[in-house]
Amino acid sequence: MSSPETANPLLTVEFRIPFDRIRAADVGPATAELLAQARARLDTIAHLPGERTYRNSMDALDRLTEPLDYAMGVVRHLESVATYPELRAAFNAAQPEVSAFYSGIPLHHELWEGIKAFASTPEGKAITGERRRYLDKTIDTFRRHGADLDAAGKKKLEELDVELTQVTTKFGENVLDSTNAFEFVIPDEADLAGLPPTAVAAARDSAERKGLEGWRFTLQAPDYLAVMTYMDNAATRRHLYQAYSVRATEEGRNNRPLIARILELRSQKARLLGFGDFADLVLEDRMAHNGARALHFLEDLKAKTERRFREENRELLEFRRSVEGPDAPELEPWDVAYFAEKQRAALYDFDEETLRPYFPLEKVVAGMFDLVHRLYGITVTEEKGVPTWDAQVCYYNVHDEDGKFIGGFYADWYPRENKRGGAWMDAFITGGPTEKGFEPHLGLICGNLSKPIGGKPALLTHRDVETIFHEFGHLLHHLLSKVRVRSLAGTSVAWDFVELPSQIMENWCWERASLDLFARHWETGEPVPEDLFQKMKQARTFRAANAQMRQLGFGFVDLMLHTRYSPQRDGDPVEYSRRVLQEYSPAPLPPQHAMIAGFTHLFSSPVGYAAAYYSYKWAEVLDADAFTRFRESGIFSREVGGEFREKILSRGDSQDPAELYRSFMGREPDPMALLVRSGLA
Ligand SMILES: [Zn+2]
Repeated sequence: MSSPETANPLLTVEFRIPFDRIRAADVGPATAELLAQARARLDTIAHLPGERTYRNSMDALDRLTEPLDYAMGVVRHLESVATYPELRAAFNAAQPEVSAFYSGIPLHHELWEGIKAFASTPEGKAITGERRRYLDKTIDTFRRHGADLDAAGKKKLEELDVELTQVTTKFGENVLDSTNAFEFVIPDEADLAGLPPTAVAAARDSAERKGLEGWRFTLQAPDYLAVMTYMDNAATRRHLYQAYSVRATEEGRNNRPLIARILELRSQKARLLGFGDFADLVLEDRMAHNGARALHFLEDLKAKTERRFREENRELLEFRRSVEGPDAPELEPWDVAYFAEKQRAALYDFDEETLRPYFPLEKVVAGMFDLVHRLYGITVTEEKGVPTWDAQVCYYNVHDEDGKFIGGFYADWYPRENKRGGAWMDAFITGGPTEKGFEPHLGLICGNLSKPIGGKPALLTHRDVETIFHEFGHLLHHLLSKVRVRSLAGTSVAWDFVELPSQIMENWCWERASLDLFARHWETGEPVPEDLFQKMKQARTFRAANAQMRQLGFGFVDLMLHTRYSPQRDGDPVEYSRRVLQEYSPAPLPPQHAMIAGFTHLFSSPVGYAAAYYSYKWAEVLDADAFTRFRESGIFSREVGGEFREKILSRGDSQDPAELYRSFMGREPDPMALLVRSGLA
């Protein structure tokens, strides 16, 4: 007999997760046990003896992996924030079998027959609302995974998937190896002119670690961006630019043939599953729904950005000639970032570091809780003494206006050696309305912010503040969910919709009134001075058309390759991509330019961002547009906040996101607000 204290803590879903009791040795046995339970439940749903009902088929499917999701979620989380070798080993050992189980669900033949059988019952035909959507989405998902194919079709699909995994993995390895194969060592300190001291120190350190004299530069982002932005020596900038733009095209690491093969495999897969092209397959259950609509979206935004794009490029050339004389040449691609930085410094004497004293972490977080109290009526309060994974971690409860307990979350803000980088939100428990009443949600938010040093509180950059607001927006999407179907709850929404709740939060970091809620000098309590605030806003729109065109170009080339590109007609995909990208580039691209061969977003996994790079811009259009309702009614409007909560935040994927959006805005998304915000209107 095992008492609760000795039982495996991963086997039962507990709201107060016993982080103090979970050990690496629990992972293997818990996974085995929970997988066995899930398989047994799957078997029961697939082979029901009696009549099929929503409850015994769909509801059971919705709950099928709940305990496994929870356990794997907790372990994956601990591996990210408090890892140690035994835990990593246990997680990695459990992972393949678990993911094979998940990906096998849509291919389970008897289960598929059972779902279709339920759909054709009177109950299945009559259900409405979220249940209807869950049934329809399940059927679509199974079909997209090949459930309807005959044996030969399934075999073909498996072959395509296996080869796609192999080729895309190789693509990523080539980029990595090719990037790492490059180094450029500068022996003479005088040739470093222009570089900031941090970049010089990093280059020296990099050389030392390789046992070299001088200063070493690689094609890793920090080195590359520092050289492109600051290095006075144009020949060095050109050298690095040229190396970067032909990554993974050299003998032995050549991604050219791989791109052609990946596009061919994706196209075959789409046609096998009954879609015209890969974009239509990937986008069917996203907000854009198909490739044509996503392409149209980008074309429209491009048309609205081009004029300002040309002006910015002319202004930059004029700036160069004002510095170097009227005969200075046109800008080459390796000159653009360099002169843009000089132009920025001349136009706006603004150093982001001067804002730090106004953003002490505790004040920022308290101000953010105050903001969501005003907007949504919810109250966030810290509770001490809750078990966590590290002494730095805080736990909070969230209550609704009427005092009802909605959920809780952990916040883990500071870097540690056993924690991965970046900022993110995740869910532990998806609650919501059930037959037993409302069950609370549980989630988390993590960051890697500058720690308090020298007796000062943790002082953040404005970008850090935006990041906290962003991730908290994702967390609210989870915590405020009122969806009954677990699989459609919270942040389980289409990829081109999921960033709306997070990105909209960033808008409150740019408004005077809300900034004054949380931006206070840590010593004097003064708000951000008006002139500093104005500079910060102006710097935000500097060369915004170039930034936008760059993103549009990536989105465009991605969709063109996955919709219109034909190898017979268009030839080499690298050449083709260069021709497409040229229209979005501020300077003529050199003939050997092969950026697409290093574009891991699109080609280093079977799907990844393929046919979906447009989502970045799409989400920006949504968040800027939706925020206009707050701006019109006052940025603390409880009424608009209530509507946003009711129509977007609480709804998860319970309705088509385009309909949710229309119900909040009363119309289709309009890109104008983004253009205004970026200074492009
Ligand atoms: Zn996000």
